[in-house]
Amino acid sequence: MPLDPSRTVAELQELRELTGDENGAQRVAWTEAWARARDWLRGKVAETGAVEEIDEAGNQWFTLDGESDRALLLGGHIDSVPNGGWLDGCLNVMAGVEVLRRIAADGRPPLTVRLVNWADEEGARFGRSLFGSSAAAGSMTDQDELRQRRDQNGVALPDALREHGVDLDGARAARSQLENAVVYLELHIEQGPVLESMDLPLGVVLGTFGVERHLVTWKGQAAHAGSTPMDKRRDALAGAAKLALEIRPMAAEVGDGAVCTSGGVVCRPGIVTSVVETAEQLLDQRHLDAGKLARLLELARKASERFAAEENIDVSFERIWNIEPILFDEKLIALADESIREVAGTSHRLPSGPLHDAAEVARAGIPTVMIFVQSLRGLSHTKLEDTKEEHLELAVQALDRLTTKTMEAYA
Ligand SMILES: [Zn+2]
Repeated sequence: MPLDPSRTVAELQELRELTGDENGAQRVAWTEAWARARDWLRGKVAETGAVEEIDEAGNQWFTLDGESDRALLLGGHIDSVPNGGWLDGCLNVMAGVEVLRRIAADGRPPLTVRLVNWADEEGARFGRSLFGSSAAAGSMTDQDELRQRRDQNGVALPDALREHGVDLDGARAARSQLENAVVYLELHIEQGPVLESMDLPLGVVLGTFGVERHLVTWKGQAAHAGSTPMDKRRDALAGAAKLALEIRPMAAEVGDGAVCTSGGVVCRPGIVTSVVETAEQLLDQRHLDAGKLARLLELARKASERFAAEENIDVSFERIWNIEPILFDEKLIALADESIREVAGTSHRLPSGPLHDAAEVARAGIPTVMIFVQSLRGLSHTKLEDTKEEHLELAVQALDRLTTKTMEAYA
């Protein structure tokens, strides 16, 4: 069967009809609609002869045997956020199905080819994203914490999993799935505005951003708004305000895609008649380069100390969360570049702000790369999420070329 990218678009529309409503996609993991989507997917893959297996974490695998046990993996996630878009995650899966059909029709491939539909990438119901891929990658270490999690209706995560045949305590056994994996490829919508602003359909993803997330606490002195002269104030908000603006030149100085966000400030006592005594400020910094990420944090600390001295207040940093940048494989990045140039003329390399299942697989040491396809208006996680059909078809072609090139390079 020759590759037919228009079939992928038609199947994505079919899936939208089957599991969406007027508010968007409703395939939240561990729900009935999600299970229905998985059953539907099973039917789509059946004709290829690939054998299905559900692993201990609920990941759905389809395996097409090759000359070698060594496996090339194609991945995506069919789960969505509530009121989600029609492409996030399922484009990856359905493009993979089309590539699988083409490979099966060409005869026995040199490498075993496996398509994986990761379980619960979004974490929409229980707040734990990358569930299935982290179990398979061996980075799931929060079992005790997961056991306590409940959804909005008070249903415990282990109970929801059990309804779908998954035992939380056994989920980490999914790790054996990556034993024979030699390479992992994933297509995804960009979910941001970069490719559209450059008028390019496709790009190669260099990796996922490292993140430094801090709570910056400024401490001054509450004082009466009427009786305290301006030069006698110790105003905690003044420090937070200065830092909120300083992150712009800071990101510009470090460059190469650096982004910094001050996502909120809580002031106490927070009344109109008092100088602010305490300002708790949220700071999020991201970069693809670990050294440059560290530099961003250092600049933020130094600037904060300067502002604290200027305002006669105190400042302290408390780390809320961080993750290292995860870099994709250079050889695969070059192959993806080549594949994109062949189908679209021009390629572009860009980092990913969001984490993806691919980041978990890369962290497990398996050479990984992603292709991004343009998102219209940069929107995702909303029913407004969209991509031009011609770009979707180019994306399927690029994934197919990349699969062929990767097979040749790793066989
Ligand atoms: Zn996704």
